[in-house]
Amino acid sequence: MTLSDSVSELNKESGFNIVDSILNAGDNATVVVDKETFEILYQNRIAKELFGEKLSFVCHEVFCTSEIPCFDCPMNTMSEGSETRIRYNDTLDRLVKWEFTRINWFNNKDVYLITLYDNLSRQIPMIKEDLLNIHNTEQKNEMDSLTGIPNYAKFYSSAERSIINNPDKSYAIVVFDIDKFKTINDLYGMTEGDAALKHIAESLKNVFEGLENYSRMHSDMFAFYMPYTKKGDIIKVIEKLRKKVETNDLEFHINTSYGIFLAQDLSVPINLMCDRAMIASRTAKGNVLKFCAFYDEQFREDMLKANEIEKDMHQSLENNDFKMYLQPKYRLSDGGLCGAEVLCRWLHPKKGLIPPMEFIPLFEKNGFILKLDEYMWEQACKTLREWIDEGRTPVPLSVNISRYHIQHNDLEKVLLNLVNKYGISTDLLTLEITESLFLDKPEELNRELIKLQKLGFKLEVDDFGAGFSSLNIIRNITVDTIKIDREFLDSEMASDKGKIVINHTIDMAKDLRLQVIAEGVETKEHVDFLKSSRCDIAQGYYFAKPMPLSEFNKFSF
Ligand code: C2E
Ligand code: CA
Ligand code: CA
Repeated sequence: MTLSDSVSELNKESGFNIVDSILNAGDNATVVVDKETFEILYQNRIAKELFGEKLSFVCHEVFCTSEIPCFDCPMNTMSEGSETRIRYNDTLDRLVKWEFTRINWFNNKDVYLITLYDNLSRQIPMIKEDLLNIHNTEQKNEMDSLTGIPNYAKFYSSAERSIINNPDKSYAIVVFDIDKFKTINDLYGMTEGDAALKHIAESLKNVFEGLENYSRMHSDMFAFYMPYTKKGDIIKVIEKLRKKVETNDLEFHINTSYGIFLAQDLSVPINLMCDRAMIASRTAKGNVLKFCAFYDEQFREDMLKANEIEKDMHQSLENNDFKMYLQPKYRLSDGGLCGAEVLCRWLHPKKGLIPPMEFIPLFEKNGFILKLDEYMWEQACKTLREWIDEGRTPVPLSVNISRYHIQHNDLEKVLLNLVNKYGISTDLLTLEITESLFLDKPEELNRELIKLQKLGFKLEVDDFGAGFSSLNIIRNITVDTIKIDREFLDSEMASDKGKIVINHTIDMAKDLRLQVIAEGVETKEHVDFLKSSRCDIAQGYYFAKPMPLSEFNKFSF
């Protein structure tokens, strides 16, 4: 680093401190969001208190519990100055006012400064005025310029009017979009993409004949509302529309996915009804058998629960609330201890011991698994070091590797750093890679695995037999061990034919010089069968459950 570099770093740092103290001066929550990626780049103290540490999370996921950018967010349309938006917030469970201002952030980044005015009771007159302003600006431009059908603002007001003025009727809001619309644009060009959107608008006009109960909300997202008596009425309309959309002269097929929200609770604001219909449509995506889904209150509860967990995860990692549990592995030939699997438990200060299935899938989605896994690997290396220092002969520890690490390509670097830091031999660490990971990009994964193997790490295919790819994997990829999935063991052992399948699987693995482990070994019958079928190692409740290190250390080895 040159002198001028370090001076500019210093300036940046002191500049940041000044900005930070200004943004912490008031009693409102403030965040800074990247204009391009919607990533949260900064949170002041109050924003952290209200929503938890959310740096590098995506704005709409945190504040609007929505998987994609909200179609009515001012960030989609505003260019300069400030704009306000009043919106019900799920996490806080109240109406709040957001003020968006376009500013320039560090490194000349184009960002939005977003301030939340939470205590609205003092500001009621102002809110009424704001709502009126919003309404007025929206009325100026009621039609979507590309398709000529109503835009979201017109849709909101007409849907709201119909639903509120007809309390004796039940209404549904349906939101839908085109699957892989971006790919269509990329492959066939914007003009064809536009033609698809216009065709959908025509289909809507055609199905609803003279009514204006539909709109293009944003990009390739459309919506309509309709009264219904039975849920089947809604599905029938969707099927009719879907057929119309599919019948066209375009060069490509248009597949649409629909989400349905039933407007039963009229206190839910209309924009939130649309968000919820949209959340439902996400669950129908990528499923060939399902083109529509009803919004289920469970989605919202799951999202709120996820929010709760995300609020605490950073703090818990700092406080060492994630604990390493070890589950022993035994040689079937002589019953000797030959290793252990590292499994995580979250000792939450308020909620108690949380099992990994309640947080690992979420961390795999939000990326926190990178940090947690590295923490667990470090615990494993530290333990091996302690054993060596105490004069024990250490048993190898196996750690779980998630999809994220393979995608981020930093696996080798992180693992090497750790073994070097603790001065342990690489063959004391086994990497458990779940079978489903081999489906994605097998060549890329194989290249990475060969590198790790050359460094001396042992590789194990976890959950072997759970998918359909098992045989291909052992043919194409060099690993040391396969770990037979516990479901596979359970279901196949139930019949004589199944037993033959496992026997042959094990035989084949042995012929390929692979070591075989069985997990989920719960009964004496399991043990006897595995012994007779040349399986090498067993892990399961029959022998021992996962346990804290202190307990594991009581085994003599
Ligand atoms: P897995 O890697 O397949 O781990 C084996 C799971 O089976 C563990 O559940 C273990 O407690 C359970 N198990 C062991 N023996 C028996 C048995 O005899 N019967 C039954 N029914 N179950 C048995 P656990 O600890 O709840 O972990 C669940 C999954 O969470 C793990 O599946 C793994 O995929 C993931 N996981 C746990 N800790 C970590 C971690 O630190 N990092 C990552 N990336 N994933 C983890
Ligand atoms: Ca495992
Ligand atoms: Ca497993």
